Amino acid sequence: MENADVLIIGGGPAGSSCARRLVQEGSSVMVLDREEFPRTKLCAGWITPEVVSDLEIDPKNYPHRFNTFDGIVVHIKGLKFTLPSVQHSIRRYEFDDYLLKRSGARVFVHNARTIEHDPSDGSFTVDGRFRARYLIGAGGTRCPVYRTFFRDANPRARELQAATYEHELPYEWKDERCHLWFFDKGLPGYAWYVPKQNGYLNCGIGAIAEKMKAKGADIKSHWQHFARKLERRRLTPEAEFSPKGYSYYLRGNVDVVRIGNAFITGDSAGLATRDLCEGIGPAVRSGFRAADAITKGSEYRLHDIAAYSSEFTLVRWLLERNFAGGKLEIPSAPA
Ligand SMILES: Cc1cc2nc3c(=O)[nH]c(=O)nc-3n(C[C@H](O)[C@H](O)[C@H](O)COP(=O)(O)OP(=O)(O)OC[C@H]3O[C@@H](n4cnc5c(N)ncnc54)[C@H](O)[C@@H]3O)c2cc1C
Repeated sequence: MENADVLIIGGGPAGSSCARRLVQEGSSVMVLDREEFPRTKLCAGWITPEVVSDLEIDPKNYPHRFNTFDGIVVHIKGLKFTLPSVQHSIRRYEFDDYLLKRSGARVFVHNARTIEHDPSDGSFTVDGRFRARYLIGAGGTRCPVYRTFFRDANPRARELQAATYEHELPYEWKDERCHLWFFDKGLPGYAWYVPKQNGYLNCGIGAIAEKMKAKGADIKSHWQHFARKLERRRLTPEAEFSPKGYSYYLRGNVDVVRIGNAFITGDSAGLATRDLCEGIGPAVRSGFRAADAITKGSEYRLHDIAAYSSEFTLVRWLLERNFAGGKLEIPSAPA
């Protein structure tokens, strides 16, 4: 049996952030991930300056690809403009591996299946092999900690399920700007073109699955339309795309995110923003908070982790209206 103070399932940004802070505070930590790192994570790899600062990354010393954009080219219903905003791009393949190694936690390649809780000593045991007093669910959308302990108390809202389709490939891009296309052909979401440093490119689309289905469309047909547009605009001549799909949940109810000594963080808690589906920042912040709850005894609450990326009410309204139909209320924090 492997023992530690804290057992974290999932080594993405939520798990590695939580692990790093716990290790810094003197806890013994095990991280289980079903994949050996570096591993592919479908993601545009856009990160905000807040993520860079929260993670204490100095871009000059970061050892992998790191791009900075001074603005984003937005295409929306025939309009095209550049939104001035400093943003960054990384490759998740490199970024997640860097963060996990930097955390200093013990890492095991293990697909966690069964979790047992022993009320007599409060411990959690995973697959009869890993035991700890605290358990962190950082396993993304299909996290076994969510599935085992939180699903009934905190069910996912189908209206908030985002479907995505994307590919990141080595490609000598000519346009160094980041482009976003909103609501093309009635897509309840957006498409992106995100160049990475030194010849990598990520292109993809994301949309609210239920709304897309109600319109009789699917992500693959939208992708075909998008790929043709990229080709017509000479943004990706001769690129050989072979996109893959993935789905996750945008920010819903976060009333129950801790039960005893079990926590959910990041996508496991459904924290990605409702307007731009940005999940790395919320994952990092929730990972830190779970660590602080364990080492400092602070309350574990996620209500004030921003549910929107944009600070502009009009932008939020427009995006949310087109994504989820504008019908969904985010439950307010309990008093
Ligand atoms: C196509 C796409 C594009 C996106 N683009 C962006 C973007 O540009 N910027 C942004 O901020 N967000 C983006 N997101 C969202 C972002 O990727 C997620 O919100 C973020 O990765 C959540 O981090 P996490 O640590 O909670 O989960 P994850 O990054 O999903 O990590 C979970 C880890 O848990 C492991 N795991 C799962 N199950 C088990 C198990 N049973 N046992 C052991 N290990 C397990 C997985 O292997 C994985 O390594 C995008 C998402 C998608 C799908």
